[in-house]
Amino acid sequence: MTKLGFIGLGNMGFHMARRLLEQGHSVALLDTRKEALEPFQAYPNATIAATPAEVTQFADTILVSLPNPQVAKIVAFGENGLTSGRAFKTYIDLSTTGPEASQQIATALGERGVACLDAPVSGGVPGAEQGTLSIMVAGPKEAYDENHDILGIIGNKIFYVGAKAGQAQTLKIANNYLSAVALIATSEAMVLGVKAGLDPQIMLDVLNVSSGRNSASLDKFPAAVLNRKFDYGFKSGLMYKDVALCMQEADRLGATMWIGSNVKEFFKLTKEHLGADSDTTEVVRLFEDWAKVQVGASEE
Ligand code: NAD
Repeated sequence: MTKLGFIGLGNMGFHMARRLLEQGHSVALLDTRKEALEPFQAYPNATIAATPAEVTQFADTILVSLPNPQVAKIVAFGENGLTSGRAFKTYIDLSTTGPEASQQIATALGERGVACLDAPVSGGVPGAEQGTLSIMVAGPKEAYDENHDILGIIGNKIFYVGAKAGQAQTLKIANNYLSAVALIATSEAMVLGVKAGLDPQIMLDVLNVSSGRNSASLDKFPAAVLNRKFDYGFKSGLMYKDVALCMQEADRLGATMWIGSNVKEFFKLTKEHLGADSDTTEVVRLFEDWAKVQVGASEE
């Protein structure tokens, strides 16, 4: 079995790394939060590493699930980063870091003979927990074929997007742009209905079998808004980062995304008012405050 490394054991990475260990792989693990490493002490095939360079001493294939492109670059090029360690075989970035960072990292690691795959995922924490994520992958086809079985432990819908570094990241930020737009538009529509006296559950029942249905109405509102749990598992700060990356890429390519500018501002406001670690579904609170209504059960 390939010796693996896994860096970034947050909401997503924790489950991905756990699944790899449970399938019998030996995995060197790294996270800057001590508490993220604690649950892995129980696995005999887990090794705790102190730096990315130390992970390269152990692993041939290194997977990362990091919060943003800045951190991905620190892990790759920072002090005791991957580029200062042993030349390993394959780097797989499962995070959403945008095409520019992927290209920069692929160039730097490529010079050391490391094959780089950008492999962002979709399907949220439940998908990571159950291994049912969709994974879009770009990079050398040979590396993709070699690592298909490892990716199959993490997700069950795996797509090869293209050979060029960053292509899968472009597809991922386009996906998250749509997901963000749906969440904002659904928040507006649900608040409108509740303000008019409609029952939000009846609204969702109708919308979800009608042409207005989308990922927020089908999934996020029933799972985390109507019950006021706001525990969908995707942080507002990450959603803001994804829309910002998408807008940045649109600028770079000369494509216009009119709706995106507004959507980005709503997540920026959520991040500022409720904190970057607030759940992304809490964006509905902005619209509720402006309209002075609440969608769903009263909060304890
Ligand atoms: P998270 O913030 O929960 O996890 C990130 C982890 O990286 C944390 O444990 C943090 O301590 C660790 N970390 C930060 N800096 C580090 C460093 N220098 N070295 C090692 N570890 C470091 O985020 P998440 O929700 O798990 O998401 C991870 C990535 O996956 C993000 O890019 C996100 O956009 C993407 N993603 C998340 C979801 C979701 O639903 N949560 C879905 C699809 C994609």
